Amino acid sequence: MTNQSHDPSTTPVTSPSPVTVLGLGAMGKALAGAFLKAGHPTTVWNRTPGKGDELVAAGATRTATAADAVRASEVVIVCLYDYDVSQAVLGPIAPELKGRALVNLTSDTPERSREAAAWAAEHGIAYLDGAILVPVTVIGTADALLFHSGPKSVYDRHASTLKALGGNTVYLGEDHGLAAVYDNALLDFFWTSMAGLVHAFALAGADGVKGADLAPYLSALLSIFPPIVESMGGEVDSGDYPGDQAPLVTEAVNVDHVIHASAHRGLDVGALGGIKAVLDRAIAKGHGADGWTATIEAVRAP
Ligand code: NDP
Repeated sequence: MTNQSHDPSTTPVTSPSPVTVLGLGAMGKALAGAFLKAGHPTTVWNRTPGKGDELVAAGATRTATAADAVRASEVVIVCLYDYDVSQAVLGPIAPELKGRALVNLTSDTPERSREAAAWAAEHGIAYLDGAILVPVTVIGTADALLFHSGPKSVYDRHASTLKALGGNTVYLGEDHGLAAVYDNALLDFFWTSMAGLVHAFALAGADGVKGADLAPYLSALLSIFPPIVESMGGEVDSGDYPGDQAPLVTEAVNVDHVIHASAHRGLDVGALGGIKAVLDRAIAKGHGADGWTATIEAVRAP
């Protein structure tokens, strides 16, 4: 005999359970395709009718309304343009969502995620927020990185379902905003790096260097980043920014060289000028002998 209680709302779902996907943009289609491939009975809905013929051919059920789609499954995945759109779609169908698990994989800010979580709680909807960190072609593979945050009991119950979307599915914690916090931080690095790459090609290209000739050296430069990221993480946490090998005052001169060379060739220097302004503020705050991580003191709100 045992006195353990059995709560079906927290018991992990082990066999492929029915899943609904709201939104059949490029990403929504990839998500629904991955669920189908993993054997989940999959119901789909999209605002503009007629999208997802290939999913229907592969066995998905397509409904005319979001409410009908929601009624088909305990787990409802949302992947729409942004949170304004997802709230516009979800708001009117709150009664149908009640008692189900809603997983919002739309990208937006942590604030929007927390607002959505508060709305879901008001309506008795078990809510997980999520973020997708890979392009559509990687969804459903071992490399697909997805973040989730919200109640651990909800994540644990549906983890096997969510893992159909990617082998690198990570639960971050109870705060619903965490998935977007990590997503925004990684995108911050991604977009500034992409902008830097384009600028580097433009700078070398202004003197006739072909992109293909510069590319191998940019790739080689990227390979030094993993140890930099590791040590920077530790320095950010400790507030200790050793600058013995490359102090900010020296780095500032090097940034100036690139700005002058770029300006001389008529290139946009807005992003570089912003970086230099942050460097100058950090130096003015007394961090001239510290390393690059010290610029965080000028990036943070005063
Ligand atoms: P798409 O632009 O391809 O699709 C947008 C979806 O939102 C469509 O289903 C569209 O419906 C729907 N939509 C837009 N406006 C409305 C509205 N007013 N009412 C109802 N539905 C609406 O975007 P993706 O699928 O690429 O992206 C979806 C989410 O996934 C975004 O948050 C994105 O940041 C994220 N993501 C995407 C990645 C990618 O590689 N594509 C990578 C990582 C994250 P309709 O067909 O009717 O227009």
